[in-house]
Amino acid sequence: MAASTALTSSKSYNDNIRPLLDAVDRLRHLKVTQEGIQLPTIVVVGDQSSGKSSVLESLAGISLPRGQGICTRVPLIMRLQGDSNSTRPSLHLEYGDKTVPTTENGITAAINDATVEIAGAGKGISDKPITLVVKKKSVPDLTLVDLPGITRVPVQGQPTDIYEQISKIIMEYIAPKESIILNVLSATVDFPTCESIRMSRQVDQLGERTLAVVTKSDKAPEGLLEKVTIDDVHIGLGYVCVRNRVGDETYDQARAEEERLFKSHPLLSQIDKSMIGIPVLAERLTQIQASIIAKCLPDIVKKIDDKLNRSMSELNSMPQNLATVADALKALIRIVKLVRDSLEKLLIRGEFDEFPNDDSLHGTARITEMLHKYSAKLPEKCPTTDKQFLIEEVRVMQEAKGIRLPNFLPRSAFLTLLKNKVDTISHMPRELVETIWAYIEKIAIQMMLRHCENHPQLKSAAQMAVHGLIDKMRGHSCKFVEDMVKMELVSDYTSNPDYLNSWVQLMKEERLFMEAIQDHSKPTKISLNAFGKVEVGHLRQHADVAGQAFDISMRLTAYWKTIKLRLVDGVALHILHAIKCLVEDELEAKLINELVGPKMAGVERMLIESPTTSAKRDRLKKSVELLRQSKDVVAGIMDRIISDGDK
Ligand code: GDP
Ligand code: MG
Repeated sequence: MAASTALTSSKSYNDNIRPLLDAVDRLRHLKVTQEGIQLPTIVVVGDQSSGKSSVLESLAGISLPRGQGICTRVPLIMRLQGDSNSTRPSLHLEYGDKTVPTTENGITAAINDATVEIAGAGKGISDKPITLVVKKKSVPDLTLVDLPGITRVPVQGQPTDIYEQISKIIMEYIAPKESIILNVLSATVDFPTCESIRMSRQVDQLGERTLAVVTKSDKAPEGLLEKVTIDDVHIGLGYVCVRNRVGDETYDQARAEEERLFKSHPLLSQIDKSMIGIPVLAERLTQIQASIIAKCLPDIVKKIDDKLNRSMSELNSMPQNLATVADALKALIRIVKLVRDSLEKLLIRGEFDEFPNDDSLHGTARITEMLHKYSAKLPEKCPTTDKQFLIEEVRVMQEAKGIRLPNFLPRSAFLTLLKNKVDTISHMPRELVETIWAYIEKIAIQMMLRHCENHPQLKSAAQMAVHGLIDKMRGHSCKFVEDMVKMELVSDYTSNPDYLNSWVQLMKEERLFMEAIQDHSKPTKISLNAFGKVEVGHLRQHADVAGQAFDISMRLTAYWKTIKLRLVDGVALHILHAIKCLVEDELEAKLINELVGPKMAGVERMLIESPTTSAKRDRLKKSVELLRQSKDVVAGIMDRIISDGDK
């Protein structure tokens, strides 16, 4: 009996540690790990049949399912609570939503039943845990997790990927730095060959949070002292050698037998007292547990706070669920207004405070750039396809010959030439308006989607509405610029006196030109202000029309400036006007029309929340609730730690 009472620590120690442990257990019970918050946990790992369940039995003083092959198929969280007042042990299991009371004799059957319920009757495994609560006189206050043993080779009836499945569960438990790894090693095996050593080293290379329990000391006492002294496998927290219950021994018999073994065995008795026996193991574990909880709690409190704040603000930023048609209509009108406001800022007023860093949305600036590019592309000088100076004009003049006085300039020739020139650039205004509307459509859809974010039901209708509207606008613009080009061809006209002035200037060189044509002794290369150096030798054979060709060419040159100005200014003002119409009138009407839909169907659709949104809302609500409870749990305990520290 002396051995069993040694498992309980002093009363005051337990009084201090118990509330901490309770808090952690309550957090575990709340499943706070679902929120990604890890709890300080002692995790028991070991190869199959290394004696994991036996160690837990020894610590708890109860019988657990033991045996050959895989016995533990789901994680078993064992909460031991020393209760000095109780005369009889009280045990119960918790799994899923169930709490099942049980007894010392019934425990094996109860765990097996629960395992079957969770992981099926076969040999499959699951990561859903069973919690076994043991309240008993003379047990240490400890919470440990027993995991399925690692097995390389599946036995008959086991899934073929059993090794991967078990490894995954084990890793999940031992990877967090808040976990203490209790590595159960059988004295009968070579430690470096243990699979459990290999796994724990993956997550705890230096062994800083690994403690080894060596079982079956009675079976392989030879060389055990050397094994635990040399420490081939880097166990940072040290070794404790034990002997568990064998066969039908009672718990007390087993402890007495252990004590006797380590005292009297010639080899085992040489191992230091601080490294032997279940009572030492219990003491070490309670100490480790207390220090890791004390170390982790402040961090846990902070994480709970952070998570709670994040979940709450996410929840608050979710759209309110709409209840009535009136609410939905209000929301819809608000969206339309927001889209309009955004577009007005981006496309008309040039205010980019909503997207200071996204240049692609700075509409007024980008559209101005497009216009500048277009203007630069339109030729500065009257375009000509001529290889030879004035030859195009000469040809047209020859075809315009008529029976009339020779010094009349035929207007038809001028218009023919004008058409040829304008044709070379007639596609440019159209290209410009198409580019601009494609750009506006992109921005408009982006704003639409952005403001519909909370009402995904509206997205496709909104997109269609914008698309349709921009299509219409583009159509108007194309018609407008086509008309502009056609107007240029109807007649040659400008009220701008600049035309006549430039023509007079250009004609000052007519003499120079005519001399080079008529006087064959003169050089055939002349320099003209508007054209630079030109060769005129080929025109001597067309001396009859050369003068008129020169005149007509100078008229076109003077007139081209006016045409270009009209094509740039006209398109620019048209675009500005069209954008204004779109944003200020058309958009609102079109969107409301399309989104409200026939018989308000669109508005009614808004009342039905999308499954993803409502699922997200539910998840956040649950998360907030859970974190609030967790916060209450730790708040109580932190107050205590602080006031204890003040004493
Ligand atoms: P688990 O698969 O790791 O849970 O291993 P068990 O606890 O089921 O033990 C496997 C076998 O080893 C059982 O038959 C136990 O009785 C036996 N065993 C465990 N510990 C000891 C020990 O210290 N000494 C002896 N002799 N047998 C032990
Ligand atoms: Mg087991």
